[in-house]
Amino acid sequence: MQTAVVALGGNAITGQSDTGTIPEQFARTMESLASVARLAREGCNLVITHGNGPQVGNALLRVEMTRNRVYPLPLSIIDADIQGGMGYMIQQCLGRRLAQEGIDRRVVTVVTQVVVDRNDPSLSNPTKPIGPFYDDADVPELRDLGWVVREDAGRGYRRFVPSPVPLRIVERETIRLLVENGVIVIAAGGGGVPVIEEDDGSLTGVEGVIDKDRASVILARDVDADLLLFLTDVDQVALNYGTPQQQDLETLTSDDARRYLSEGHFPPGSMGPKIEAAIEFLESGGEVAIVTSIDQASQAVDGSAGTRIVGSPRGRG
Ligand code: ADP
Ligand code: MG
Repeated sequence: MQTAVVALGGNAITGQSDTGTIPEQFARTMESLASVARLAREGCNLVITHGNGPQVGNALLRVEMTRNRVYPLPLSIIDADIQGGMGYMIQQCLGRRLAQEGIDRRVVTVVTQVVVDRNDPSLSNPTKPIGPFYDDADVPELRDLGWVVREDAGRGYRRFVPSPVPLRIVERETIRLLVENGVIVIAAGGGGVPVIEEDDGSLTGVEGVIDKDRASVILARDVDADLLLFLTDVDQVALNYGTPQQQDLETLTSDDARRYLSEGHFPPGSMGPKIEAAIEFLESGGEVAIVTSIDQASQAVDGSAGTRIVGSPRGRG
């Protein structure tokens, strides 16, 4: 394997509970990086990306609870802050792991902006619930912050934000240069900060979140990755997931993946974006996408665990 993009799921850093403290996040991150260190030892060029759902949720809670004491933070700033904070944590943990194993590689975080279409329908129709649930008494004040707050499936009020389609990574040339020179790059954390391009070419942050699986595949294309590795909290992708008919998959071709996707085996909020990203990756020249858990990651890279998604053989003529 020459170049890999490793996408760490929310669970890779926060663990099973959404309340992971910072020391818990450090401990979990250390565990998650075993397979990354191993790829690094083999001389693989590496980009790491990661989720940020619980961290963004907590940051929003802080904004809401301190709204009468300090100025509010726009989501674009929260996205950027958390890329820095989580990037720092991963840099430090990976640095420690590489040093322990005597691997001489540098690690850096790039705060990443991702261009979205300013006419993306999602921007005028926020559909992604983020952060905690609120009491109805708090709703007017939250709306005063400019937030779209709606009832979420009868469970209480939540903030809804756009989830626009990522088009292009602004820092791609820099990331490419670093990766080609052996630097391990942490980029597009939480999907990156969504930005729109103004008429004069300047960029403006927008309130929204980008799906990290979608951003990962763009990153993978930008660095010509061979491997796209999704580390999440299941060992394998399954058909009929969570039912008595559940069937775990060792390999999956992109054609089969597309068919199962349309049959509803991979839901939009969880496995769906990973499978879509895997298909897109293989179609744009990637060799293999793997979905597995942190615990099985090293075996999965060897081919003895996880689900490998590969391109469908194409007939000639
Ligand atoms: P991440 O933070 O890694 O992106 P997600 O929660 O978005 O994690 O996606 C992983 C989850 O997808 C698993 O925990 C599992 O519950 C769910 N899932 C849904 N459908 C499937 C499936 N067909 N096979 C395996 N897992 C699935
Ligand atoms: Mg997810």
